[in-house]
Amino acid sequence: MPLLDLSRQYATIRTEVLAAIERVCDSQQYILGPAVQDFETRAAQFIGVKFCIGCASGSDALFLALAAAGIGPGDEVLTSPLSFFATASSITRVGARPVFADIDPETYNMDPVSVQSSVEHRVRLKAIIPVHLYGQCADMDAFSRIAAQFKLVLIEDAAQAFGATWRGRHAGTLGDLACFSFYPSKNLNAFGDAGAVTTYDENLAARVRVLRVHGSRERYYHEEIGWNSRLDSIQAAILSVKLKYLEKWNAQRQQHAETYGKLFRGAGLAGSDSPIGLPKTHANASHVYHQYVIRAQRRDELRKFLSDRGIGSEVFYPVPLHRQKCFDYLGYGEGSFPIAEAAAREVLALPMFAELTEEELRTVVDAIAAFYS
Ligand SMILES: *Cc1c(COP(=O)(O)O)cnc(C)c1O
Repeated sequence: MPLLDLSRQYATIRTEVLAAIERVCDSQQYILGPAVQDFETRAAQFIGVKFCIGCASGSDALFLALAAAGIGPGDEVLTSPLSFFATASSITRVGARPVFADIDPETYNMDPVSVQSSVEHRVRLKAIIPVHLYGQCADMDAFSRIAAQFKLVLIEDAAQAFGATWRGRHAGTLGDLACFSFYPSKNLNAFGDAGAVTTYDENLAARVRVLRVHGSRERYYHEEIGWNSRLDSIQAAILSVKLKYLEKWNAQRQQHAETYGKLFRGAGLAGSDSPIGLPKTHANASHVYHQYVIRAQRRDELRKFLSDRGIGSEVFYPVPLHRQKCFDYLGYGEGSFPIAEAAAREVLALPMFAELTEEELRTVVDAIAAFYS
């Protein structure tokens, strides 16, 4: 059983998706046509935000959001060391410098106390990017307060969290700007690369809209330098179909997470002396389980054991961002963020997608119980 089997989802929506693709082909409007506007409207409605601007990927969404907020050379941007590479590389892509703060050991999201202490005395710091890791919103009460106190732009990296909430409000409505990825492995996914930026701010929305088409409002007249980062019409049409089912799929993921928990408890693996730790959800957050991530003793051995039994798993992420070779110049080292470093050694994502069966979940839990027995 793989970590993610997209073919099962495809089987359930194949006719509808192919019809949507056919409509785009029949219209011959491949670039920023009605299919893109339609998805942007539906996505904004779903999230409950004013503006949604489609773009070419989640990485570009981060880059466009930072650029639209005016972040550039000489500025610093604070984010989590336990995230996908693009969270940090987008900061360098606008010419700014990444700064990290340690994470909370239970949610794996940035720890407000660590953020507060690294924000103080940093005169060049202009923005913070909390990451809603694995599909659980970061503590946006704390980060909104810190952003307001220090006049920082607050950008959500919501690439893994479409549909997740904080105090009942969706990811994508909780900062000045938010960035989504529709990469095939994400919980809302396209048939290729795709992404989006959301915001309530009309000026920021207009800026992202212009920057994704070469910085021009009128074709061939460029007020500023922008790039080509549009959402393809075909991808938008596919996403509009999938968006109709997202609530159901997210609920199924949550159901599977509950079942995993029940089975682990049944196997005696949920206590405080257990060799594994189950995912924990903050009281103010709802978790959409983009990934179901446990903490595991002898993690790499367990991973091999599961793989030998045909069970897929993955490590998100084996090297924290401050330990990546390309970021040596930032001057961090082993021990700079011990909680993120421990997580990188211990986390393991187990199979998680809407179409999993209870029998498959049982197979995973039985194999893990066998490993530790
Ligand atoms: C996937 C992801 C991205 C990048 O999105 P792409 O669409 O792959 O460019 C950025 N941040 C996080 C947290 C991600 O998971």
